[in-house]
Amino acid sequence: MTASGTAAGTLFIVSAPSGGGKTSLTRALVPHLSAQGIPADISVSYTTRAPRPGEVDGTHYHFVSRETFAGMAERGEFFEHAEVFGNLYGTGRARTEALLTAGHDVILDIDWQGARQVRAQTDEAVGIFILPPSLAELERRLRGRSQDSDEVIARRMAQAHDEMSHHDEYDYLIVNEDFDRALRELSAVFVAHRLLIEGQARRHRDRIRGLLA
Ligand code: 5GP
Repeated sequence: MTASGTAAGTLFIVSAPSGGGKTSLTRALVPHLSAQGIPADISVSYTTRAPRPGEVDGTHYHFVSRETFAGMAERGEFFEHAEVFGNLYGTGRARTEALLTAGHDVILDIDWQGARQVRAQTDEAVGIFILPPSLAELERRLRGRSQDSDEVIARRMAQAHDEMSHHDEYDYLIVNEDFDRALRELSAVFVAHRLLIEGQARRHRDRIRGLLA
């Protein structure tokens, strides 16, 4: 990422309340974009929270201690970092920048606080917010994926409300009622962004020269 406009890829921030379907959508998005010739990667964040069953270190998150996290923050190794629900989360700077320079689009699956920090550093990031179709459906999804007590579900719903209240700070809004449709819409944002004149003129410089010779 550069604030100077030299990055070849684009940084996409994708936020949603937990239960909004963001993780499934972004994971399906990468092969979907690849099939259309768009190289994209999901940034693997650092977190101090414990892995959930099935989560793999280095794939879902880099799981680190609070001490390691604090050291990284102090050395300026995070592009953004925030505390979410009592745990620390951060986007590593080095890999994100390397991917962008290599022409890859990078997807940051981060919360509204991280999104604000990214926007403060660059006006080139594209923000996408994903909403569930209704509160009833959000609650059904939250209950469906765990055996949590009513109290935990009520807390998650309150946190979801807090996250959703920031939807209007983003450039695009997608309602995830039907997964396939939401995936197509998400993909359309990436495809359209690739077609903006500045990037296209850079990618097709020689072709354009030839056409105008
Ligand atoms: P979870 O623990 O359920 O995987 O994620 C909890 C929340 O933390 C989600 O809203 C997710 O988007 C956010 N999150 C994950 N990684 C990062 C990160 O690197 N930075 C920020 N700011 N938020 C993150």
